[in-house]
Amino acid sequence: MRDIKYYKSRPKIDAHNHLNLGMRYPDFFSWSGTPIPDFPRVMDGLDEMHDVIAKYTRPRCRTAQDVADLIGMSIDAAVADGVTVIEGSIDIGFMVHFEGNVDAFLRMTEDLVKKHSEKTLIRPELGLGKTFDKDKISMWAPELMKSGVFASIDLYGPEIEDGIEEFKYIFDLADKLSLKKRAHVGEFSDARSVRRFVEYFGLDEVQHGIGAAQDDAVLQFLADRKVRCNVCPQSNVMLKSVKSLKEHPIKRMIDAGVPVTVGTDDLLFFDRSVSEQIFDLVSAGVITESDADRILDQAR
Ligand SMILES: [Zn+2]
Repeated sequence: MRDIKYYKSRPKIDAHNHLNLGMRYPDFFSWSGTPIPDFPRVMDGLDEMHDVIAKYTRPRCRTAQDVADLIGMSIDAAVADGVTVIEGSIDIGFMVHFEGNVDAFLRMTEDLVKKHSEKTLIRPELGLGKTFDKDKISMWAPELMKSGVFASIDLYGPEIEDGIEEFKYIFDLADKLSLKKRAHVGEFSDARSVRRFVEYFGLDEVQHGIGAAQDDAVLQFLADRKVRCNVCPQSNVMLKSVKSLKEHPIKRMIDAGVPVTVGTDDLLFFDRSVSEQIFDLVSAGVITESDADRILDQAR
C-alpha cells in the first residue's frame, strides 16, 4: 500500500483552490494575529462557513498587500504538498483593495505567478461571486479577462438558477477569448442543475458537480462531453454535503467515465491537501490505486 509520501511526491494538480483561503490555519493565524475559535471544524453548510469568513477572514484583508500575502501563503501550502499545477481562483472582489486599478491587480497576479514559477505552474483563474456588485463585475471582468493573465473563469455563490442570465455575457466572452469556463454547481444542488449549468454556460469544467452522481444519465452526459469535475471530498464532508468520506460519490463519477480531479477548495477551512485527500480516499476503500493514478494523471 502506498503511503502519504508517495502521493506527496507525485506531480499533481489542484484545480479547485480559492487562493485567498488556501493556507493552513496555523499559517493564517500567525499572519493575522487573530484566532478563529474552535477551528477548523465541521460546519452546517455554506451559511456557517460564510459567517466565519464575514467575521474573521474578510475583515483581516484590508490592503492590496494583504491580498498578495494571502495568495502567497496558499501557493506555498500547495507547493509543500507537491502540487505542480495550480488552477486557483482570485476573487474579483479583491479589486476593491486595488481601488479598481486593473493594472495593479494584474501586476500582483503576474508577480505571484513569476515568483513561484520554478516550483509550480500557476494558471490564475478569475473568480466571480454571484452576489458581488454586478456593476463592478461588468466594469472590471471584461478587461481582466482580455488581459491574457487569466486562464479560466469560475462563477460561484448560491447554487440556484435565478439570475444566471446576468452572467451569460461573461461566459460568452470567455468562450471568445478561449478561457476555460467553470462554475460551482452540484455541491448541494442536484444532477439536473449540473446539466443545466453545463448546457447554459457551455462549461468546460464543473467545480464540485457531485450532485450529478444522483443520475446516471447526467454522469453519462458529463462523460460524453468530457466535462471535468474538480471535486473536493473533505470540503463536502466538513460542510455536510455528504455524510462521510466512505459515502462520497467520487467513485461513481470515475466509473462513469467523468474526468475527475481532487481539489482543496479552501485548505484553511478543510485542512486536507490534495495528496492527503487522495491518500484518505484510497485508505478508506472509496477509490482504488488505479483510480488515484487517473486523478494524478490530470496534472498537465
Ligand atoms: Zn469552491
